[in-house]
Formats: sequence, structure tokens, C-alpha cells
Amino acid sequence: MEHLTCGGETSIIEKKRTKRWPKLLFLLLVLFCVILSAAFLFHGTERKPSFSDELCYTLVIDPGHGGLDGGAISDDGTRECDINLAISHRLRTAAEFFGLNVVMTRTDDSIRRGYADYSEREDLEYRAAIVNDTPAAVLFSIHQNDFPTSQPSGSQVFYAASPGSEALGKCLHRNLIDQLDPQNRRVAAPAPRSLYLTSHVQCPAVLVECGFMSNNFDVQKLTNSRYQSSLALIMTASLLQYFTNETNY
Ligand SMILES: [Zn+2]
Repeated sequence: MEHLTCGGETSIIEKKRTKRWPKLLFLLLVLFCVILSAAFLFHGTERKPSFSDELCYTLVIDPGHGGLDGGAISDDGTRECDINLAISHRLRTAAEFFGLNVVMTRTDDSIRRGYADYSEREDLEYRAAIVNDTPAAVLFSIHQNDFPTSQPSGSQVFYAASPGSEALGKCLHRNLIDQLDPQNRRVAAPAPRSLYLTSHVQCPAVLVECGFMSNNFDVQKLTNSRYQSSLALIMTASLLQYFTNETNY
């Protein structure tokens, strides 16, 4: 190969290369036609989403509370923030397994690093900024419910007013009830304006109350790693289902 640049040999090689061009162009044209035909054959003339559409989204997981703010506390002293974090880590693992990008608003029990004087409002503003700074975000905020009596149990999904949130919330709520709690008569509901995070993000956003800290049977389930994994898998499956329905026009 080193000698091809010498004098006359170069011009012979160039001639051979020139002769190859029409053949190469013809082959490229045939390849293009084959790909085009296959696209029409399998998908018709309408554009259909591919899995890569879903990979453009980033799932932002917000494990509610943390650090000084433990959230609701059960009779046996279990803190809501710890359950939220455990479920969130499992959700992250499941979502990443399916190739989704994931961002978390916290990954351990510390509230914002280097933040000495805790302020719930500033913490929520910080979390909202993470969501709003993430391109093509979808927010799952993970919480547990609490009630003055021990009777209420089960999960409930609240959805933001932003576009896509209602469809995502209803899809997730239906799957949680169908798979884990068929007796649950609650319905997915609009998130109250008083919930800071769901009121201050522009992306599809839901707040999931996975169960009640005031119900001991719920707390037993919510601290069980298998149950946490079930919740995480249902959330991931619902998200993929939502992407398909949302983009399948
Ligand atoms: Zn909470």
C-alpha cells in the first residue's frame, strides 16, 4: 500500500477507483430502496415511534423528604423518608434496566449538600429546579400517606396539571390497584395546588402515595423489599405503557 502514491501507479489506481464509483453508487441506491420499502411494508406511511423515542426521556425520581425531614412516622418509628428512598432506588434500577435515563433529587438521607439551615420550601425549590432543568423529564415523586386514624390503606396517585400528567397518573394508578390492591376504591386525582413540586414543574408529573404510614399492615408491606420491588416494577411498566400510548398516534 505504501507504493501506491508513486508516479504512474497512482494514476492507474485512480482510474480503477473512478470505475468503481458508479458500481458503489448503484449499490447504495439499491440499499436505500430496500430500506425504504421495508419501512413502508412494516409501518405503512404513518410515522410510528420507536423505542429510541422513549430513550429521549429522563425519569426524575424524587424520594420525598429526607434528612431532618423524616415525613410521616409510623407507630413503630419507621420514617416515611426511608421507605421513599428504598422504593426510589428500586425504581431507578428497574428503569435503567429498560434503558431509561434516570436522575434522582436525592440518593441518600442527606438533604442538599452543604445546606446547613434546613428550609422545606428551599428544599422543594431545589428539587423543582432539578426537574425543570432536565430536558424531556418525567417526574415520579415518591411519598407515603398519613391519616389521623389507622383505617385507610392502599395507594393513590396524584397528577400535576401539566400536559401528560393525567394520562400518566391514571395509567399508574390503575396498574397499582389492579396488581397490588384490587379492593382499593380510590381513584387517581389532580394534585392539590398546595403540593409544591407538582405545582411548579412543567413536565408530566405524578406524586405516588404508595400506602399509609398510619396503617400498620401497610407499613409492614412498604418496608418489605419484595413489595418495594413490585411497586418499582409497576411504576416502570406504567411509564413504558404511558410512552407507548402517548406517542402512538
Ligand atoms: Zn410525604
